[in-house]
Amino acid sequence: MRRTDLFIKTRRQAPADEESKNAQLLIRAGFIHKDSAGVYALLPMGLSVAENIKRIVREEMNQNHASELLMTTLQRKELWEHTDRWDDAKVDVWFKSKLLNGTEVGMAWSHEEPITEMMKEFIASYRDLPSYVYQFQNKLRNEIRAKSGIMRAREFIMKDLYSYSRSQAEHEDFYNAMIQAYLRIFTKIGLGDTTFLTFASGGAFTQFSHEFQTICEAGEDIIYLDREQGIAINEEVLSDEVIAKTGLNKDKLEKLKGAEVGNIFSFGTHKSEQLGLYFTDEDGQQKPVVLGSYGIGITRLLGVLTEQLADDKGLVWPENVAPFTVYLASLGTEGEARNSADELYSALKDQGVSVLYDDRDERPGEKFADADLFGIPQRVVVSQKSLEAGGFELKSRTSTDTKIVSKAELLEILTKSLQG
Ligand code: ATP
Ligand code: MG
Repeated sequence: MRRTDLFIKTRRQAPADEESKNAQLLIRAGFIHKDSAGVYALLPMGLSVAENIKRIVREEMNQNHASELLMTTLQRKELWEHTDRWDDAKVDVWFKSKLLNGTEVGMAWSHEEPITEMMKEFIASYRDLPSYVYQFQNKLRNEIRAKSGIMRAREFIMKDLYSYSRSQAEHEDFYNAMIQAYLRIFTKIGLGDTTFLTFASGGAFTQFSHEFQTICEAGEDIIYLDREQGIAINEEVLSDEVIAKTGLNKDKLEKLKGAEVGNIFSFGTHKSEQLGLYFTDEDGQQKPVVLGSYGIGITRLLGVLTEQLADDKGLVWPENVAPFTVYLASLGTEGEARNSADELYSALKDQGVSVLYDDRDERPGEKFADADLFGIPQRVVVSQKSLEAGGFELKSRTSTDTKIVSKAELLEILTKSLQG
């Protein structure tokens, strides 16, 4: 894409009321727009990162036999009354509204109830199971604290998957497969070394749920990590009994700040029984369906990546999620350098390299600063000087070294990185 076609404007200052590093930087770089506290719009570059994260998540969900759908934001009060979760004293993040006829409705903060209710129309026999559905959906939560930028928003994108199984054993197989899928996802996103499976509080059915916590100063959780085993315990459930139960080494637990990027739950059959989701098994018996739910904070991940990787020059994106792979800057708007840059731009596009071509009439310093601020993994500069030295100047976002490479070399390097 040409920079002149890209809808973006960088700014020197973040809004004065923005406290968090992630939102400050993402706003300055023109990736997001702040509407109000905890409410952010994704601008093209921010959307591109979010879509890349979604693509990675989607691939793993599909691999694990799940189907994507999209539920609604407006939800029926009766459903949530049925499971005793309509009351603000039980769920303190509800946004609620009324239809013109006075009927009360809730705004989706979760979809456990509506999806399970819907499943009653689709699940009748053991042949309809197991069933796995997921979505990327905007969740609305009336969060009290909204000081962590897009890491804790009042409106945010979540991936939520719901599993419906015939037996506890069938459920557990899927649950364990999801743990592995989540670990692969965080590795692909670039957070593999710092994200850990974490024992956290469960619910009515199980003692624990599993969170995925990324070590992060801006995170709001405290975790105790056993690095050797690569598993942590959330402070909220930490006790000698839990340490013994989880088999972690008490003497080696490190106390760290974490950001919860994912959370998976086993629900047993409680909710199915409440809502009346039953199936007929092979010998004609009616049984409640075993339920699980699996969340990932898509937009929170954008914030966590920013907090973790950004440096004093700006954003830094891992290649798999970066909005573009290459920032191509031509120095000078006419002459040989410009022609070479135009040609290189076409060649890169032809090879399927995702490239942002800064074709503006701006000072070099301005272009370099933007390449850094945007966090694009590779920068290629085409100037009279580089051409005289034999080609194009290549530099990675995280290194200070530059090297001159020929067009053929450049194409090879960049298409190779494309294949991972
Ligand atoms: P938290 O403890 O941070 O409030 P939660 O346990 O309420 O999160 P879940 O209901 O488990 O969140 O939601 C699944 C995932 O959605 C979380 O693991 C997190 O990554 C993300 N998420 C939850 N709340 C928010 C929010 N307010 N803003 C952005 N992402 C969020
Ligand atoms: Mg959670």
